[in-house]
Amino acid sequence: MAPADQKPVVFSGIQPSGELHIGNYLGAIRNWVGLIDTHDCIYAVVDYHAITQDYEPRELPTRVFDMAVDLLACGIDPARATLFRQSDVAQHTELTWILSCCTQFGELGRMTQFKDKSARQADNINIGLFTYPVLMAADILVYRAGYVPVGDDQLQHLELCREVARRFNHRFGDLFPEPNPILSSTPRVRGLDGQAKMSKSIGNTVNLRDPPEEIAKKLAVAVTDPNRRRRADPGNPDVCNVFALHERLSPPQVCAWVREGCTHATIGCVECKRALAGNMAEVLKPIREAALDLAARPDYVRDVLATGAARARGRAAATVLLVRRAIGIDG
Ligand code: SF4
Repeated sequence: MAPADQKPVVFSGIQPSGELHIGNYLGAIRNWVGLIDTHDCIYAVVDYHAITQDYEPRELPTRVFDMAVDLLACGIDPARATLFRQSDVAQHTELTWILSCCTQFGELGRMTQFKDKSARQADNINIGLFTYPVLMAADILVYRAGYVPVGDDQLQHLELCREVARRFNHRFGDLFPEPNPILSSTPRVRGLDGQAKMSKSIGNTVNLRDPPEEIAKKLAVAVTDPNRRRRADPGNPDVCNVFALHERLSPPQVCAWVREGCTHATIGCVECKRALAGNMAEVLKPIREAALDLAARPDYVRDVLATGAARARGRAAATVLLVRRAIGIDG
């Protein structure tokens, strides 16, 4: 338990996939920003997680940089939260090894994401992919974080983290809290193809830095209610991804206008998408402008990450010292 005068510690990480898209923003990052007022927030760009999948090494530094730019542009204030690159804090990997000795092989084999990713990259089922949840547990426990904002697809990993913390505490003494999830109140944003989740690798995203004309172009081909084939057909907004985005981004009166017009076939999808494009561009305008400004100041962005890493390192080193003593390595 944190003392009454200390804010509860939150940790979360995001892979360096490059620029953020609107699904990341609505599903996670907006929540991260909101937590800064009430929590001691530690946020990492988790590049060691990213190398468990096929990637181009020359592109990785740019992907990390772009992710940091977009996180700052979204409102992660480095004066009030710690933002850093995971690989700059070596204690994450040191604790991973120690925790892996408290993790059972069978537990990792049951992880749904391991099975899914193994199927997707059958020629590269590396050990890092298998032990990914242990690195995630170390990311969290090295700051003794009590809370983790996660999507529902990460709940199984977080439950494993809690189990590993329990096991460590039982064997070596009460050192780690069992972290609790903070689930986003926004359901997952589907891709513009209406089926899969929004993902850059699938190519069905609107990126936060997309200019208004690009947003309009992408939305123009977005999948809508599949049963509304002609303008004269009434539609069902509740099964339409365009409407789901309206609900998250447009004012209530616009959502009411869409619902009424769609169900009575008085507006067409083209009109509806145009309205969404305008509202989305308006919401993203300050983020886009901030990101373009930050991208033009790379030294500042790198300095933020270095300062964040130094701060994180101090905290992580204090935990690892306690862990080493507890397991009999030191003293
Ligand atoms: Fe979807 Fe809008 Fe078309 Fe209705 S009018 S089906 S909500 S895009």
